[in-house]
Amino acid sequence: MVLNTSAAISLWKKYFWLSVLCVVSTDVFARQSCEFEKTSFDSNFPAGRLTSCQKLSEQNYRLIISPAFSPVNPSAWYAFRVRAKETIELDIEIVFSTGFARYSPKLLMSDQSWKVLPYQKTERTISFSLTVPKEQSQYIAAQPILDNAYYESWLEHVSASTDAEIFSVGFSEQNNELKALQVSPESALLFLIIGRQHPPEVTGALALSAFVERLFEREPLAEQFRQFVNIVVIPQVNPDGVKAGKWRHNSHGIDLNRDWHQRSQQETQSIHGFIKERYESGQQLVFALDFHSTNRNVYYTMPAEKELYWQGLTQEWLADLTARISYDVIDAPSDRPGNGVFKQYIADYFHVQAVTYEVGDETLIEEIKKTAHAAAEALMIQVLSRTTGEKF
Ligand SMILES: [Zn+2]
Repeated sequence: MVLNTSAAISLWKKYFWLSVLCVVSTDVFARQSCEFEKTSFDSNFPAGRLTSCQKLSEQNYRLIISPAFSPVNPSAWYAFRVRAKETIELDIEIVFSTGFARYSPKLLMSDQSWKVLPYQKTERTISFSLTVPKEQSQYIAAQPILDNAYYESWLEHVSASTDAEIFSVGFSEQNNELKALQVSPESALLFLIIGRQHPPEVTGALALSAFVERLFEREPLAEQFRQFVNIVVIPQVNPDGVKAGKWRHNSHGIDLNRDWHQRSQQETQSIHGFIKERYESGQQLVFALDFHSTNRNVYYTMPAEKELYWQGLTQEWLADLTARISYDVIDAPSDRPGNGVFKQYIADYFHVQAVTYEVGDETLIEEIKKTAHAAAEALMIQVLSRTTGEKF
């Protein structure tokens, strides 16, 4: 069976609505709720973020968005719900207290897809019009909401289709499980994929899903690859941050992707402990990927001349990918020993190559999937050609 992101999203729908209902009833996150005579705004759902509201007129509202911690990388995440007692046309202005207006506003449609709304922006504001039908909630967010419930359903879906095992590599600071997937625990080689260190980086999360789905297809190339290496996927490294609609950090205000050398947080400690434990039981890390989003599609790599396991593989992989897609593959190598980024930590500590796979914020889902599938295919071919000597 061929897996696909759309199927996972459709499974996720029911979990999303269930989790919305649960959170509203218990108000676990003490989120913002702004009640006006005819209209209300709130962020009482997973990944919601709304700081305060101002009514400028019956149809005109200003919504203020602030990060949980400052200073912070300018990834101005917002997610809120609008309701009205009668059908109304609203003019909404979002004002960011810091950073800049990075993400275009998206509306959750009845088929669960997200549509970019026509909007205007300045450095710190986004303005748009919205029709709110009588007593029908409208969800607006900076990016499609892929909350923890999405990962529950996605992991179940991939696991059920391929007999991959779901297991736990530890817990976050707020005791959310760091769930993972693996296929060949007895293999001597470990191929590690992680994602969602930074909550708003949803295009990177979608790329991870599509990339992994290609690795887990039931066809000869992927089946041979899965027998050869144990693929371990930890899709959600920062569940606390995602749940709370953080711009960047975990629950303690730590940027996890600067914490890999210090490992001051349970999230980084758990994953480090997991890799070390695997080494001690005879399974060697051979390659790692970390999915993110930024303003363009780019691969942050280790320099080709640096002596690391499977030296040259990254460059061969990206050259192969270039031949498969219609736009330039940007390879941005850097080596800064001791910094706390995952890619560097993997190189410094385990002497293995790692790549930060960055996807543009506004890259369309079809392009994300196409590129991720091509990238997964190219990587499997390059690894198997290099290690088995066979031609694929
Ligand atoms: Zn990031």
